[in-house]
Amino acid sequence: MNTQLRVDGAAVPEQKTSDLTKMNTQLFINGQFVDAKNGTTIDVLNPANGELITKIAAAEAEDVDIAVAAAQKAFPAWAETPAAERGRLLLKLADLIEENLEELAQLESLDTGHPIKDSRRLDVPRTAACFRYFGGMADKIEGSVIPVEQGFLNYTTREPIGVVGQIVPWNFPLMFTSWKLGPALAAGNVVVMKPSEITPLSTLKIAELIKKAGFPDGVVNIVPGYGHTAGQRLADHPEVGKISFTGSTQTGRNIVNASSGNLKRVQLELGGKGANIVFEDANLEAAVNGAAWAIFHNQGQACIAGSRLVLHEKIADQFLEKFIGLAKSIRLGNPLDPNTEMGPLTSEAHRDKVLAYAKIAEEQGGKVLLGGTAPQDESLKNGYYVLPTIVEAKVDDRVAQEEVFGPFVTVIRFKDDAEALAIANGTEYGLGSGLWTNNLQRAHLFAKKIKAGMCWINSYKRVNPGSPFGGVGKSGYGREMGFEAIHDYTEVKSVWVNVDAQVPPHFQRGE
Ligand code: NDP
Repeated sequence: MNTQLRVDGAAVPEQKTSDLTKMNTQLFINGQFVDAKNGTTIDVLNPANGELITKIAAAEAEDVDIAVAAAQKAFPAWAETPAAERGRLLLKLADLIEENLEELAQLESLDTGHPIKDSRRLDVPRTAACFRYFGGMADKIEGSVIPVEQGFLNYTTREPIGVVGQIVPWNFPLMFTSWKLGPALAAGNVVVMKPSEITPLSTLKIAELIKKAGFPDGVVNIVPGYGHTAGQRLADHPEVGKISFTGSTQTGRNIVNASSGNLKRVQLELGGKGANIVFEDANLEAAVNGAAWAIFHNQGQACIAGSRLVLHEKIADQFLEKFIGLAKSIRLGNPLDPNTEMGPLTSEAHRDKVLAYAKIAEEQGGKVLLGGTAPQDESLKNGYYVLPTIVEAKVDDRVAQEEVFGPFVTVIRFKDDAEALAIANGTEYGLGSGLWTNNLQRAHLFAKKIKAGMCWINSYKRVNPGSPFGGVGKSGYGREMGFEAIHDYTEVKSVWVNVDAQVPPHFQRGE
């Protein structure tokens, strides 16, 4: 099932479209590209104009079962493969991703709406860097020696879990593929991954590169499909030992319930409502720029987005004047145009959900300071675009509490540090957070007291494969990236050896 992919829309320089036409759109199971058993397909739409890009095979429960069986079969040999060899394959995959940078960047932008300049400069390089980091780590996964009582040696080893199910959302499909595959494979697990059916193309391209890199058949299986069928089956499959999920809090809950049958391990990276606090002593230019990046990068479709802008009342008006000016100047356009700074949202349903929040804000007495609608520009009318939106609201309003997941920021003012901290910690989420201040003591105190998995000081949204990523509260549990991810993808075994212990018999028996 090789389908023609079309790149529509505005002038698109530096294209390499010939490669796109060869792209595979089937499931990747046991090292082969295959149709779904019942032959169903899913339409993949271009968010910039609503037109069909291609159709992909749609995995259902039966296909997931076949993929899990293939992974199970591949597991013993993969787990026994020397760690340095597993690492070598991951490094080879990183090289192949870099060799295919342009094609992957175009696919990601076409499918998700990411501006091409971000796909080229961030998504693809970060994906390669993540595979490279875990490739380097594969042969450095160590246990420890624990000082126990005299005469005994006690040491730990880290063993792979087995078959791991990974469910990837639509907002950063390429990067999240590496965040999940990298540590799982380095640690010796085998994988069945379900990309979102909305944005599966870059992950299917990664499947091709996995085959080309020489990974053994069955070690990685990619099965795009709907959440309620393919995703649900992965979550409740009795032979899957762990699920790694990124998505909404509600689906995270469903996954925990589905996982209870075989008590599989679950790692959840869920929503967020990141507080980005600007204190009165902050460098305003830097803070304005950082706050814009925090919310408008990828059209705000990021769990770590700085979607609550918490401003000290002394600088709030001055800050907002500059911030609104910057937001107005952001160039919306075709994601494949290198001048575009904000593309469309990824799906029509999601665009409608984001726009509805502008009305919700007003109904609760909030004030829309900018945007809140789709752009009027004729050339954008068929795409799922939303203007940069800035709303001022009260701390308990829905737009200050719920994840909007769009280019939509809620401004809240504060008087003093205590109030800033209460606002920052005043949601059920706890993922990303940021603060802008020149007061060192305050910066570290907030970093300690803020309820979040990540805190950026005088910056926002930094990620690195070595730095653990994850949240607390309704933002989920477990960590991706860094050595923490290896912990999440391994089981610890404690081994006791009697090296010189004279242990009296427990049971004395007569001669
Ligand atoms: P979901 O949580 O429903 O989807 C995320 C992934 O989970 C998709 O691959 C989805 O498949 C799959 N899925 C859905 N239902 C199940 C299930 N029962 N079992 C297993 N997998 C399932 O998020 P939405 O796409 O509906 O987005 C809703 C909101 O979630 C967003 O507005 C945003 O607030 C948040 N979100 C957060 C993300 C993050 O990065 N933390 C990423 C995406 C969304 P399918 O696409 O077929 O439904």
